[in-house]
Amino acid sequence: MRVDCLIIGGGVIGSAAAWWLTRQQPGGRVVVVEPDPLYRQAASPKASGGVRRLFSRAENIEMSNFSIPFYRDFNRLMAVDGEAPEIGFKQQGYLFIMPPEGVAILEGNARLQRSLGVQVDVLDGPALRRRFPSLHVADIGAAAHSPEDGCLDPNAALQGFRRKARAQGAEYLQDRVVALEASGGQVRAATLASGQVIQPQHVICAAGTWNAGLAAMVGMPLPVEPMQRHDHYWECPAGIEPLPFIKDLNGLGMHSWDQGFTGSLVDFNIAAGHNWQVDHGYFQRVTWPAIAHRIPRMAELKEGQSWVGHYDRNTLDGNMILGNWPGRVENFHIAAGFTGHGLMHAPAVGRALAELVLHGRYETLDLSRMGYARVPDNKPYPELGIR
Ligand SMILES: Cc1cc2nc3c(=O)[nH]c(=O)nc-3n(C[C@H](O)[C@H](O)[C@H](O)COP(=O)(O)OP(=O)(O)OC[C@H]3O[C@@H](n4cnc5c(N)ncnc54)[C@H](O)[C@@H]3O)c2cc1C
Repeated sequence: MRVDCLIIGGGVIGSAAAWWLTRQQPGGRVVVVEPDPLYRQAASPKASGGVRRLFSRAENIEMSNFSIPFYRDFNRLMAVDGEAPEIGFKQQGYLFIMPPEGVAILEGNARLQRSLGVQVDVLDGPALRRRFPSLHVADIGAAAHSPEDGCLDPNAALQGFRRKARAQGAEYLQDRVVALEASGGQVRAATLASGQVIQPQHVICAAGTWNAGLAAMVGMPLPVEPMQRHDHYWECPAGIEPLPFIKDLNGLGMHSWDQGFTGSLVDFNIAAGHNWQVDHGYFQRVTWPAIAHRIPRMAELKEGQSWVGHYDRNTLDGNMILGNWPGRVENFHIAAGFTGHGLMHAPAVGRALAELVLHGRYETLDLSRMGYARVPDNKPYPELGIR
């Protein structure tokens, strides 16, 4: 089968790319190979749903500046036959809490964010306490509050992209890429588990935590590995004021959800690998003490479900790796290493991938510093004071 673009993986990144490609070049043949249409192990439906502009690199802020309004307009953009998906965007704001030694970094980040149009307030302990009286602030240096950020339903976002991409002509094959054949700097063929062979003009590799194995098939070493992350749901006594999506730099991330809250204390040093085993003691042992420290009223709460998902952890610098390897594999565009930010950036990443495929360069937002070349060059491009 000859195709204009083969997309490996139909999660939120692959489906956003399929949406952009079929919108920008109607009639082009776009095939998405996705082994699991229920997305039981994919990261996308397991995301917490946070969308924010609080980053320290201009590219990440600009991607959010594009993606958040895009998500606000999502039901119109993704409507099929008059039926619109509901992603439940809640503008509850975001709060990044820094210890005293991180205040200068937080203030520098806020200056950059403001220069790019982000509404952000830097609050010291007393000011933070006045705005959110439930928070314990004695140990903090400062916090950045961005009231226009928020969260949305990640599975609804994934399904919205997928459904509309299909309506625009993208073909989803329930299959798995098991081999890639490259020669002369081009991927020539992809073999699927079913035995079918696809000959693509371009390949977008958006296989999440499985990306490193696929990139290795074309000789592209990728510093990306699965990182297990627990998540929990809990309910607590009434009387707590509406809280923003909270990120404590010790790794605690939490926000209100349904009748209660969801979140976790993320262990960024956990050994690499897929591990679907839920540690049912994790909440009581690790997450709850961190929650109760920051919000003392949550010393009493009702524990709900726990589950695990996996970040595609970029061990070089924690930022995404996007695009081809110039001079080596020209038509193979990797989209990997989102390390917990892929949902919020999917609209901008999908657009960027479509530009690379259709025009061979970025047409809107220049993301070249997020390119693959920094991997062989060993030039990390990390965030500062951001997780
Ligand atoms: C617990 C948790 C919380 C998160 N919270 C947030 C958040 O608040 N905000 C945010 O922006 N991001 C968050 N993220 C990160 C976000 O979920 C990811 O960055 C994003 O979903 C990545 O999308 P993806 O399409 O690259 O990967 P995935 O959704 O994992 O999709 C990859 C797909 O590739 C398929 N695949 C694998 N191998 C092959 C193959 N050989 N052939 C074909 N297909 C294949 C898989 O079946 C899978 O469906 C969170 C992640 C987790 C785990």
